[in-house]
Amino acid sequence: MEEMKDTPTPTKLRERTLKDLFSVFEGIYGPSFECRYYPCHFSGQDCSFCYCPFYPCLIYDMGGEIKVSSDGNFVWSCVNCWKIHEKDFSENVMVALSRYPRQRIVEEDWFFFNEILQELLFGDVVGIRDENYYLLDILSDKVCEEIDDGEVLAVKVDNFSITSVRKIKDLKSAENEIIIPVKSKGRYYGVRDESFVVCYEDRLVY
Ligand code: SF4
Repeated sequence: MEEMKDTPTPTKLRERTLKDLFSVFEGIYGPSFECRYYPCHFSGQDCSFCYCPFYPCLIYDMGGEIKVSSDGNFVWSCVNCWKIHEKDFSENVMVALSRYPRQRIVEEDWFFFNEILQELLFGDVVGIRDENYYLLDILSDKVCEEIDDGEVLAVKVDNFSITSVRKIKDLKSAENEIIIPVKSKGRYYGVRDESFVVCYEDRLVY
């Protein structure tokens, strides 16, 4: 990971991410042996995407989760995601994103990038759009049981940065937010087929 002397603003972070991505398009990819942090995840890792183009993906299967930073902001922690550093996956990402003109890549939003990631992981777009929310339906491949009462996380993302997170008990109360399950002690509390469910840890992506 590149040394950062300051905490980058979301705009700066996105600029670095796009610069990283365009370097990959130019053919600069693979392990980064000269990096002082190499290997930050595992020996032989692929460093093409030091800055992940899907950040913040909000997909627990990747190994990430929502945390509160020392300055009180919500962040998506990627500390347990190694997938973006696997050579095969990294190449698939490069192929998927290189289909689009650079101008479009610069202008597109979180949904565009997230749906590309969904297709790479699940073979299809699993996000469900509604008038008030975007349900990231990441429980369909898990073992779940219906429960009478539940809650989900409603997340707002602006300029690839999480600006708010709250728990809601009714999708109708969502305000153009992204809906993801609540993760607690290896269980996921979410919505599947319009019912509240509890599902069990099963990282099918790996
Ligand atoms: S969890 Fe992995 S795929 Fe998701 S944003 Fe972080 S590095 Fe990217």
